[in-house]
Amino acid sequence: MKDSTRLMNVPPVGHEYEPLVQPIYQTSLFRMPDYSTAVATEHRVHPGSYYTRWGNPTVSYLENQLSLLMRTERSLVFPSGMSAITTTLFALLTPGDLVLAADTLYGDTTRFFLEDLRKWGVRVELFDPADASTLQCCGESRPALVYYEALSNPNLKGIDLDGIQAFCRDVGALSVCDGTFVPPFMRKPDVALADIVIMSLTKYAGGHYSVFGGSISCNAALQERIWHTQSLYGAAIDPTAAWNLSQGLKTLELRLERQSRSALQVARQLQEHAAIEQVIYPMLDDYAYRHLTSRYLDHGGAVVSFVVKGGPTVVAQLLERTRVAGLSVSLGGIHTCIEHAEAMSHSMLKAMDENLLDTSGSEKPDQSLIRLSVGIEDAHDLAMDLMTALDSL
Ligand SMILES: *Cc1c(COP(=O)(O)O)cnc(C)c1O
Repeated sequence: MKDSTRLMNVPPVGHEYEPLVQPIYQTSLFRMPDYSTAVATEHRVHPGSYYTRWGNPTVSYLENQLSLLMRTERSLVFPSGMSAITTTLFALLTPGDLVLAADTLYGDTTRFFLEDLRKWGVRVELFDPADASTLQCCGESRPALVYYEALSNPNLKGIDLDGIQAFCRDVGALSVCDGTFVPPFMRKPDVALADIVIMSLTKYAGGHYSVFGGSISCNAALQERIWHTQSLYGAAIDPTAAWNLSQGLKTLELRLERQSRSALQVARQLQEHAAIEQVIYPMLDDYAYRHLTSRYLDHGGAVVSFVVKGGPTVVAQLLERTRVAGLSVSLGGIHTCIEHAEAMSHSMLKAMDENLLDTSGSEKPDQSLIRLSVGIEDAHDLAMDLMTALDSL
């Protein structure tokens, strides 16, 4: 045999002792030991080592970590949060279905519901997640699915969790919650947010602004249904990305505690500044949804939303004058990010057909609302940075 042939057949080296960290199985393919195993694996659900679009050990490791933290039977990991959301909804819905969606959702999620799902013949009606009684007045047909975010973006609106879940039980609808803003360790561990909890791992879970990912956590039956669509549509995460997210998850609790402590400190200082109209943070005394979020929140998290006095010019000045807080659109990670919701993270809402949004009642952010995501820099340095920028307006 020639070297070129033998080189292709040097077997992978396994470990003699357990590695401390899950290895990255950067391979798209696994070699089957015999024909019957190959045939049997072809028919398995989510096999961990056959073809990486169907499963991969590094991906399985991350899914196990998530199932532990989410206290669910199973989890699935996706290449992005949006991929987790769209794949899950395509897996669960059929044309003609009715979906009740919260009136305040992540910008791209709103767009997916109001533009794409409607195009596929799914009826979408909006409700106010802080008031579950608005779920009842949405027509005569039974909803297949109720969709909401545990803490809305960017208004940090809480949800009437008990009311929503009671409604779903009564009508036999699946509950699906985007828990990105309420990751494990921020949320009370024994509270289930929904039948299926979706997360953008790009935010808190990864935590270092170095990688994209998304996940769902649910029971085994739902996971199996969604996995078929995931593998068919090719929504597979790369093993190295999954590995990065696994490492991120290990420090999630430490980061969250520090970020929540700093965020509360910064929120209180912002409240006292004359240039500020309103500060929204779940652990502030005047937070409007405390009666709802005390049910499921342990920490306030990194995100502080606030409204500055004055219009777009003042907003632009502030965003360009901070030095510690960087003008960036993401949240939850170790660097402090500041952004203008209306013009940046939620600009697609404005770009969408205004009539479409107006008639459905989707809630838009205040035009001077700024979303701050507090990182792990020194809290005093960060507060000084914001105060100096506000003073200069
Ligand atoms: C970022 C985000 C998403 C989308 O996640 P990606 O990883 O960017 O695709 C969905 N929902 C919420 C609440 C988010 O913040």
